[in-house]
Amino acid sequence: MTDSVPHAALDQLREAVSGEAVTPSDAAFDSVRQVHNGMIDKRPAVIVRCQNTADIVKAVRFAREHSLEISVRGGGHNVAGRAVTDGGVMIDTQTMKGVHVNPSTSRVRAQAGLSWNEYNRATAAYGLATTGGVVSTTGVAGLTLGGGLGWLMGKYGMAVDNVRSVEVVDAEGQILTADDNENPDLYWALRGGGGNFGVASSFEFDAHQVSTIYGGLCAFAVEDAPKLWEFFGEFSADAPDELTLVMAMVHAPDGSGHKIVGIGMCHCGDQADGEKAADAIRGAATPLLDMLGPLPYPIQNTLLDAGFPKGARNYWKSAYFKEITTDTVAAMVDRFEQTPSIMSGMVIEHFHGAVTRVPATATAFPHREPGYNLVLTGVWPDNAGDDANIAWVRETFGTLTPYMSDAAYVNYLGDDDGARVQAAYGPCWERLQSVKRTYDPENVFHLNQNIAP
Ligand SMILES: Cc1cc2nc3c(=O)[nH]c(=O)nc-3n(C[C@H](O)[C@H](O)[C@H](O)COP(=O)(O)OP(=O)(O)OC[C@H]3O[C@@H](n4cnc5c(N)ncnc54)[C@H](O)[C@@H]3O)c2cc1C
Repeated sequence: MTDSVPHAALDQLREAVSGEAVTPSDAAFDSVRQVHNGMIDKRPAVIVRCQNTADIVKAVRFAREHSLEISVRGGGHNVAGRAVTDGGVMIDTQTMKGVHVNPSTSRVRAQAGLSWNEYNRATAAYGLATTGGVVSTTGVAGLTLGGGLGWLMGKYGMAVDNVRSVEVVDAEGQILTADDNENPDLYWALRGGGGNFGVASSFEFDAHQVSTIYGGLCAFAVEDAPKLWEFFGEFSADAPDELTLVMAMVHAPDGSGHKIVGIGMCHCGDQADGEKAADAIRGAATPLLDMLGPLPYPIQNTLLDAGFPKGARNYWKSAYFKEITTDTVAAMVDRFEQTPSIMSGMVIEHFHGAVTRVPATATAFPHREPGYNLVLTGVWPDNAGDDANIAWVRETFGTLTPYMSDAAYVNYLGDDDGARVQAAYGPCWERLQSVKRTYDPENVFHLNQNIAP
């Protein structure tokens, strides 16, 4: 039990909420406070495992009344680890798993604690899907609030582009609706501005008719990397909206440590067109492993999950490319050869199609130029590897900086990237600050990639 919060107040909180209030003296405390990134080791005074919006209201008011810092967890995946507070109130929405699909409107009301695999399972029953991440264990809430890129984005835009309404609990503990009609400025800011404006309790999404896609992964020898990057640049530049592509230098999943190049694809249109795209990928070099074919969309979304186990240690850096030249590729291949961990990789995500037809300031996610994003995913198993792996990510990012722009995707920023937040929001920054002044002038919600009021 923490010293900073009176026992009687915690007892009252326990009585007041439908979910649980977990404190350090509870047996479950250590497992509940854990998030995806094993480097995060923070101890909240209390974790409110919310069951509904009323629980969130009570948790916000409790924190304010006792002057405690607030953190908010959705899926708990963010590598910066700001879903957990040291000594404050962790508002845990991960326990809110409700989802209702309306097949006649193709709209989905999803509570904030769903992961994308849970969301996908619910919508797949109706032959529907919404753009989520490329890894299905990621949370709907954090991913959507920051932008949300994924396998369906070429055709259907980012997750934010599919949000029609959000229910939010603000810094005063009031329940607000944010949509085109009510609080439209908040609605704008929530679509990219992260957890800066309140606690999202649920989202209303558009869903689309997607069931069997043509997708999967194809792996090649790392020696083929230069010609594969060249192929990828040309092939992706002509990709139709239906085809979303990701390319990565990673390690073979068998634990051998073999370095490989993987190309992942998802074609959500005509199967014959999907097969043609797959043939082009297969023909780019000699595949070591060809897992391309028709797949249910929810399976496509799980193909990369095993590469990112919960509890592994993570340190990432990311930015958008200015250009990918022969020099860029040579530098990437050279740095990849020096990775200290066989769990780490370099991932390039291609932006095109529907994502790029939304004006840069129409939502608070401004990255609407066609192009590529790079993520250096430093992942390793235990703390003995911390120094070497963090150094590898930092040095690699330094080497690649000349090829990168200032722009960054806020959901990939790390704990030490605070100085890059303004650049990440680019032309949306001033309006975001203004909305922050309206809805959270005291910066109650600051454990995030913060937009100071
Ligand atoms: C393995 C892995 C794969 C990823 N793949 C993708 C991908 O394909 N596409 C992509 O776009 N991103 C991807 N990401 C990044 C991901 O979008 C962010 O990490 C995102 O923040 C995760 O959301 P979460 O809810 O799981 O995380 P959390 O850590 O729970 O939340 C992150 C932050 O979001 C805010 N937040 C969370 N829930 C709420 C809520 N209910 N109300 C208000 N604020 C809230 C809080 O500020 C919190 O600190 C990936 C991350 C990982 C680790």
